[in-house]
Amino acid sequence: MPFTLHGLPVSQGIAIGHVHLVSHAMLEVNHYHVPARHLTEELERLDQAVATVQGELVGLKAAATLGQTHSEVGAFVDLQMMMLADPLLVEAARELIKVRRCNAEWALVQQMEHLVEQFEQIEDPYLRERKADVVQVVERLVKVLLGHPGHLPPKRRDGLGTIVVAHDLSPADTIGFRDHNIAGFVTDVGGPTSHTAIVARSLRIPAVVGLHHIRQLVEEDELLIIDGTRGVVIVGPDERIVEEYRLRRTELELERSKLNRLKDTRATTLDGESISLLANIEGPKDLGALKAVNADGVGLFRTEFLFIGRDTLPDEDEQYEAYRAVLKSLSGKPVTIRTFDVGADKTLNGVGARFEPNPALGLRAVRYSLAEPKMFLTQLRALLRASVHGQLRIMIPMLAHAHEIDQSLILIEKAKAELRAERIKFDESVPVGGMIEVPAAALALGMFIRRLAFLSIGTNDLIQYTLAIDRSDEAVVHLYDPLHPAVLKLIGGTIQAGARFGMPVSVCGEMAGDPAYTLLLLGMGLRQFSMHPANILEIKQQVLRADLGELAPRVQRIIKMDEQSKVREAVLRLVG
Ligand code: PEP
Ligand code: MG
Repeated sequence: MPFTLHGLPVSQGIAIGHVHLVSHAMLEVNHYHVPARHLTEELERLDQAVATVQGELVGLKAAATLGQTHSEVGAFVDLQMMMLADPLLVEAARELIKVRRCNAEWALVQQMEHLVEQFEQIEDPYLRERKADVVQVVERLVKVLLGHPGHLPPKRRDGLGTIVVAHDLSPADTIGFRDHNIAGFVTDVGGPTSHTAIVARSLRIPAVVGLHHIRQLVEEDELLIIDGTRGVVIVGPDERIVEEYRLRRTELELERSKLNRLKDTRATTLDGESISLLANIEGPKDLGALKAVNADGVGLFRTEFLFIGRDTLPDEDEQYEAYRAVLKSLSGKPVTIRTFDVGADKTLNGVGARFEPNPALGLRAVRYSLAEPKMFLTQLRALLRASVHGQLRIMIPMLAHAHEIDQSLILIEKAKAELRAERIKFDESVPVGGMIEVPAAALALGMFIRRLAFLSIGTNDLIQYTLAIDRSDEAVVHLYDPLHPAVLKLIGGTIQAGARFGMPVSVCGEMAGDPAYTLLLLGMGLRQFSMHPANILEIKQQVLRADLGELAPRVQRIIKMDEQSKVREAVLRLVG
């Protein structure tokens, strides 16, 4: 019997496909019995995996020594090498294989769990957290044993895609779907503005999150339909339901294609104000989507996606190539490239070994960049080198303190001085701007306006930090409210301060791409919106209907309201 589950719709569209169950940590491995005659082979499998991981770690260590990776890498590599050599891990797993006649990955995970339990008894918090190194080294071994990335199933022949069902997925896991014909995904946890959801939208993969126990409710290979627009998942649909959803999918595609007629229309309001509709991208791979809607430029290039989900960092040349490709392709339109915002849910491989009690409040974004000046400088050099190929603007994420801007500007000057000394050309006057996504920044705008050339409001984090709710935690997602009066005061105040001081302000959080908020933001005075390319035409449709003269006084009254329900009603009335 088919049944329906309801979750949070995070990436639009309909996917029909077969379930593939995965575990985020990849440590939920199968257990199977190994016949006595294959025992030697199983032990050899383990030895080979250990040798491969040893090789990987030696490579990482060499890259760290040459300064090609962040400085923490050297330390975690040493720890993982120690774990790999420790008889308590590999030797004990060998014994398990022999005695229990089990497969190598299962033996490793059993032994890992045993060791983790022992680590948890340790009083010293530093030593206790070393359990993370055991887990990571076993993850590496299991990945090799499972032939990663082959653990995602190959393309199916029946024309239906694969739907990944997981407890949780990191943004790096999700990026990995690009090459695996994944039709959609559903997870037990997650929130609509999490980076995983943002990546799903950027890959145009329908997704529903926050389904709680879906992994226990479906079976490998079972047929599944995801309605990423309404947050509905249908398990085991019959032919009639599948047909109905195929039809719905065609209708949605038709609706989207109707919007295409707006592609070359200027986004101008009824009273003649021209609005910039810019694209959020994660790399040159998104240029096709940007061109398809004729975006006015790039308002946010999230460069951290060049860094995550891999073992070595992109060097200066690799980064330069990516930035150059984007700048060249935009042929003179503005391109705002944000320096890497790693940390929180966007961790670099291996750096998770450091225990962080509250990652979203920890060493993230500019804080991380300033803690790793060598890595930051490499990026700044690559950016400046690329600046000759277009209209580059450099943007610093998650600023809260004036000294973070000052230190970043000093490093930019240092990068410039190095390039001058090496006689490498760059644009001397690249504008440097910053993100307003921490309430402290929105409340102390003067020090940002004095030091920077432009501001961009990151509503995803601004809402997360103002309302003290984790944007990737579905348990508090109902509290994530862009229309909270405190949030509106911070956004409205920033836009108005920008207008007063002649400082360009854009919004590049998910609010900018949601048609429910377009008129509100226009009424606040916003003239630059940056969003996923897929949303641009829908937002343009809203802009074309807007009368700013009429909107502005109504929105001023909304910003002054201090009752959530009143704000909501008033915003609904704006939309009409
Ligand atoms: C934001 O916080 O709104 C933003 C645009 O940055 P990110 O989503 O990458 O944190
Ligand atoms: Mg942010």
